[in-house]
Amino acid sequence: MEQLEQKILREGRVLSESVLKVDSFLNHQIDPQLMQQIGDEFASRFASDGITKVLTLESSGIAPATLAALRLGVPVIFARKKTSLTLANGLYTAEVYSYTKKETNTISVSKDYLSHDDRVLLIDDFLANGQAVLGLNEVINQAGASLAGAGVVIEKGFQDGGKLLREQGIRVESLAIISSLQNKTITFHREEVT
Ligand code: 5GP
Repeated sequence: MEQLEQKILREGRVLSESVLKVDSFLNHQIDPQLMQQIGDEFASRFASDGITKVLTLESSGIAPATLAALRLGVPVIFARKKTSLTLANGLYTAEVYSYTKKETNTISVSKDYLSHDDRVLLIDDFLANGQAVLGLNEVINQAGASLAGAGVVIEKGFQDGGKLLREQGIRVESLAIISSLQNKTITFHREEVT
């Protein structure tokens, strides 16, 4: 997605050879117009998949997921990283190792909002090693719901997540794929990854 790549080039900060900081439009301050374009793009890629719910992980997935859900006309659920819901037995839970925080979170979704009737689109901000998507997919499996695919704003193609998920048969739609962050330079992978 051209507008997104331009924004990453203008405002992205390479923190290391494997971590990109995009706090100015995605992870801290949010650019609502860009989020709308991102949401529209996800919605058009999954328009014929019968999506009934969009599922993401708090907090950085919420903005793109909400804009996609708005366009698809369905609710958005964000999995919580800390169990603040009162009834532990009313939850679907999964363990997710956080790539940036280097800690494991138990993510949870209330059983009230996901059921076997649901066809789910997962959305996340970054794809690195695929742990967030796999944890969210486990929640979907516990609910007996079905996964339509995962929409990712920025995939780091030089890490294993994309390959791992695609090998498991998960459809992954990434709006920007970075092939390298070496030498403080952001390089995009432009061919279609299948
Ligand atoms: P994964 O679960 O695929 O290993 O990592 C994805 C999660 O880690 C995302 O939800 C995102 O919050 C975080 N993440 C991974 N890599 C980066 C990065 O380079 N920059 C930022 N800002 N977040 C990242």
